[in-house]
Amino acid sequence: MRNPVPVATGLYEKRKAVFPRQIDGKFRRLKWAIMAVTLTIYYATPWLRWDRGPYAPNQAVLIDLAHRRFYMFAIEIWPQEFYFVAGLLIMAGIGLFLVTSAVGRAWCGYACPQTVWTDLFQHVDRFIDGDRNAQMRLAKAPWGPEKVAKRGLKWSIYLAISFWTGGAWIMYFADAPSLVREFWAGQAAPVAYATVAVLTGVTFWFGGFMREQVCIYMCPWPRIQTAMLDEKSLLVTYKDWRGEPRASVKATKADPAGKFGDCIDCNQCVAVCPTGIDIREGPQIGCITCALCIDACDRVMGQVGRPRGLIDYATLEDAAREQAGAPPTPHLKLIWHPRTLVYLGIWSAIGAGLLFALGARQHLDLAVQKDRNPPFMRLSDGSVRNAWTFKLKNMEGRPRRMTIALEGLPGAVMWTDTMGRDQAARHFTEEVPADTIEPVRVYVSAPRGTGEGEIAFTMTAQDKEGGSDRVETRFDAPGGGHDGEGDDR
Ligand code: SF4
Ligand code: SF4
Repeated sequence: MRNPVPVATGLYEKRKAVFPRQIDGKFRRLKWAIMAVTLTIYYATPWLRWDRGPYAPNQAVLIDLAHRRFYMFAIEIWPQEFYFVAGLLIMAGIGLFLVTSAVGRAWCGYACPQTVWTDLFQHVDRFIDGDRNAQMRLAKAPWGPEKVAKRGLKWSIYLAISFWTGGAWIMYFADAPSLVREFWAGQAAPVAYATVAVLTGVTFWFGGFMREQVCIYMCPWPRIQTAMLDEKSLLVTYKDWRGEPRASVKATKADPAGKFGDCIDCNQCVAVCPTGIDIREGPQIGCITCALCIDACDRVMGQVGRPRGLIDYATLEDAAREQAGAPPTPHLKLIWHPRTLVYLGIWSAIGAGLLFALGARQHLDLAVQKDRNPPFMRLSDGSVRNAWTFKLKNMEGRPRRMTIALEGLPGAVMWTDTMGRDQAARHFTEEVPADTIEPVRVYVSAPRGTGEGEIAFTMTAQDKEGGSDRVETRFDAPGGGHDGEGDDR
């Protein structure tokens, strides 16, 4: 018996190029609208201005890493308030679950950056090479002047879009007009050039060449979503009970017994699919639910005089009902089911909590750190002195006068490095610059014989907006298990 000839097989199937046909319809128009909105938001946001006064940047959305601030219109987030950013990220994550529960993979089909940029690049393909058939002809054609010119032009447009995309990203991290000037003058930070180079390369490669492979092989989200889908999830569904057995229009007309279904096997649903799949084979991980096959099939059904919706959004539950003869449930009704409401409840609760925390937050803060070594000093007049480093935080975009007062410890007075002990009192006032944490050394002395005990400091803003903060701390004195040294400050 002859040994079988070994056949070399690769680990991965070679990519079959996808040339999606242009299509018009309600879902295509929805995709246009979402593409216009998302790209406008991405490219234009860094150019929006927001007046925060003379002491803060006037860029509406800015991640100011150098000064450790995040500005978003009227909101300014400090590093200590990172929980707001964490809350927003959690909301974004739950928002994705919510969208998946309500409308399936709508994020993938309409708003994911990979989808939006791939769609944009596919329109560049059509603009330069023509629609599906012309693209396929050019792809097969040998390299010649026309192909070189068209490929050169197309890739240059890809590159321009990619560069613009990378360039827009860095503007979220610095004042956009200044950064553009510095960038072209060669004076921007090296990290700005590196970031633009990396993002240009990624956009060019992912949007221009990887395309559906990112969705099918690289992105984890389709796998996560698959685990989240159930019989109530809205999917793009081919109604095989209505479409099968499929046959051409001619064969259907010639069939007096009407044994054929509504699908005329025109392949238009496959031709328009940006991931190149055939939805008639059932739900697949490659289906990003962009619904362009619905547009294509609805158009075909209109042309052959059959009801639309052979391919449509449907849940597995509703598909089974429809197959049994019930009319299709309106899409809006299918969105609202218990899991969607649970996600919506969690998402809204976090949003409400963040809004409440934002509204209730103080725009000033007092933090105190006591000297530990030594915990107190005996001064030459017999009084006992403790020292602290205060941090006076002013989160407003203007300087503010703050009065710091001492509570408790009768007879005690305090002073700072700048005012001196001769001006010691129960309170002092300090001007804190805009948007700043001002460190201040504070000394408190209590008369001879004072014992250790609890004290507190309050900081109150001396303007009409007001606001105050209070911190409790401890005053150490001889006899409390510590010892100190003589000093006259
Ligand atoms: S577009 Fe509609 S009719 Fe044409 S092959 Fe697809 S499902 Fe069948
Ligand atoms: S099968 Fe239809 S919905 Fe799914 S990706 Fe292709 S065109 Fe979009």
